[in-house]
Amino acid sequence: MRVFKDVNLANYHTFGVSVQSAWFAEVSRLTDLLTLLRSGVHPTLVLGEGSNVLFTRDFPGLVIKNAMSGKSLMPDPTDPHRVVVEVASGENWHAFVRWTLEQNLGGLENLSLIPGTTGAAPVQNIGAYGVELADVLQELEVLELHTGKLLRLKAADCGFGYRTSRFKGEWKDQFLITRLFFALSSQQHQLHTAYGDIESHLGGIPPEQRTPQQVSEAVMAIRRSKLPDPAQLGNAGSFFKNPETDRDTRDALLKKYPDLVSFPLRENRFKVPAAWLLDKAGWKGKSIGRVACHTSQPLVIVNTGGASGLEILDFAVTVAADIREKFGFRLEPEVNIFPPGAWPEGD
Ligand SMILES: Cc1cc2nc3c(=O)[nH]c(=O)nc-3n(C[C@H](O)[C@H](O)[C@H](O)COP(=O)(O)OP(=O)(O)OC[C@H]3O[C@@H](n4cnc5c(N)ncnc54)[C@H](O)[C@@H]3O)c2cc1C
Repeated sequence: MRVFKDVNLANYHTFGVSVQSAWFAEVSRLTDLLTLLRSGVHPTLVLGEGSNVLFTRDFPGLVIKNAMSGKSLMPDPTDPHRVVVEVASGENWHAFVRWTLEQNLGGLENLSLIPGTTGAAPVQNIGAYGVELADVLQELEVLELHTGKLLRLKAADCGFGYRTSRFKGEWKDQFLITRLFFALSSQQHQLHTAYGDIESHLGGIPPEQRTPQQVSEAVMAIRRSKLPDPAQLGNAGSFFKNPETDRDTRDALLKKYPDLVSFPLRENRFKVPAAWLLDKAGWKGKSIGRVACHTSQPLVIVNTGGASGLEILDFAVTVAADIREKFGFRLEPEVNIFPPGAWPEGD
């Protein structure tokens, strides 16, 4: 393992903004990680593939780029139709999903083509097309950064919610997720095809003949048609979370905007797609300087070329203020912004 000084992070995150890290190390072994932690350099920041971060200034400490690899299968002693799958946290998420499908294991197909590492997936409980990581994850192994101890956690104890977990809240920057454990089904797997355009992409395939592989292909085709490729246009996926509201507010908005889209959550609570709000407010395809809302998915803020992290942050703050003024919703970033206090707290 080599530790580098003053490294430009532009190639290590998908917004591609130019910022410096005081120290940088790529870690593929746990022992190297422990050595690094003992060196005492602070602060530390764990980076996967950088597809959910926005740097607004140089990082004054040590960036640990996670490159831990390896995966394996073993029978689930409690269920003959299930297999326990273990994966190291530096593996690419989509490559891992495709590998499980090659083993004829269902469960992760709706999460195909989400960028990033497996180790970052629990941080915001990645989700797409009606499935979240929390639906399939059983356990995690984490390294407690200040003690160097390895701990095993049950998924149920990680506080998973909509694009959130305790790793984003009270456990922020305390643990490095080292391994994930899934229980995936090898037979009679229940497919989730009701969300988005999956059904229409599956065409005339009768439900009883559908496979997890076909659902994965459908999800990949839909995602490729809608989302910008970060290799071409810097972005970090959806910039904001979808806001929640109560029934009265939703009904009042419906009177004003009869085409308002909303989804029931639990008692009297509704989710309103942030993309709908941005589109309605005229942000789709709109740019300020070198930053824009994407032309086909306004929720994706893009670096159209050479923007700084602060320009992207300013743009996002302007968009959020406009949505607040027009609809009363306070948009919350889904992207992890550095330093953490950079996003203005609301009133
Ligand atoms: C085009 C595009 C589409 C996307 N679509 C989706 C989508 O459909 N659904 C969805 O949920 N997300 C989506 N995302 C967001 C992103 O793919 C996920 O959040 C992903 O899990 C980030 O992985 P990463 O390795 O790039 O994490 P990074 O961006 O490197 O890190 C994200 C956060 O996790 C922390 N972290 C990273 N690794 C670890 C670890 N091993 N232990 C502890 N903390 C860690 C980091 O410190 C940081 O706070 C999309 C992003 C892009 C660019």
